[in-house]
Amino acid sequence: MKRWVIGADLGGTLIRAMRTDLDGRMLARAEVHTQAQQGPEAILGRIFEVIGQASEGTDPGEVLGIAIGAPGPVDEQGRLFDPPNLPGLREVSLRERIRDRFQVPTFAGNDGNLGALGQLRFGAGQGVKHLIYMTIGTGIGGGIISNGELLIGARGFAAEIGHQTLVQDGPICGCGQPGHLEALASGPSIARRARERLAAGASSTIGQYREGGNDVTGKSVTDAARHGDKLALELLREAATYIGLGLVNLIHILEPQRILLGGGVSQAGELLFETVRQTVHDRVMSPVYKGVEIQPAALGADVGLMGAVALVLEQSSSA
Ligand SMILES: [Zn+2]
Repeated sequence: MKRWVIGADLGGTLIRAMRTDLDGRMLARAEVHTQAQQGPEAILGRIFEVIGQASEGTDPGEVLGIAIGAPGPVDEQGRLFDPPNLPGLREVSLRERIRDRFQVPTFAGNDGNLGALGQLRFGAGQGVKHLIYMTIGTGIGGGIISNGELLIGARGFAAEIGHQTLVQDGPICGCGQPGHLEALASGPSIARRARERLAAGASSTIGQYREGGNDVTGKSVTDAARHGDKLALELLREAATYIGLGLVNLIHILEPQRILLGGGVSQAGELLFETVRQTVHDRVMSPVYKGVEIQPAALGADVGLMGAVALVLEQSSSA
């Protein structure tokens, strides 16, 4: 009898894995540093290691499946198309290699897409059939659920919602293109604008919220905003407006019932959500779109792992 599901998450810093029962209750977890500079085979070895630890004491016959999420672009075979912080994985099918190693059904997907599935099954998207999940942190990613199903496109590359162009000649995004939402509202982009304004002589307490003598980060801006710093509030409002504009584009195309915002920048809470909601309210083409719910995502740092678990459960029930 199948009793367990393994979810894994390959990130630039950590590789993590979790074992749950068929209801998503966590029973074991493991993590290890990615050490991406050591190359694809070393990374694969560590993926096997954490999956092995998370499944310790179980029999392969008891495992329903394994799924792994990774930063996009990633196809359904789990081949990574040159993400900047995990080079050299293009030729490797994570899905095939994990299946060969553990001899159980294996699945793979973009971590943003899996995050949306995780919200749908276990998080703040339960009971909804049309959902957008957006995570705003070091980058901006997400996933789209349309009519109860993940929208993945022809090969699995769809829903890169952080890479929609909002400003024709705007700041250069991590992907190299100008004016993407990620370059206007991610944590590092908020920090970059804060540094520019401070260098230009703006008066602000943002500098007092640096951590460990480091440079100003998105979190420094959020912390200063919470204490009423005017410049920090202005920068957060600016980022929230761009997020709102990006959501307006998505709302017109997809008509979601609910939008969930997660990631480090979303920790600013109402300071961010108020402007996002107001922008959507002001900028949609018709009042018919105004009812969309815009709420905080759930599941915290486990969203990718729970999403991977959700992918196994979804694929297994449709098989
Ligand atoms: Zn981009």
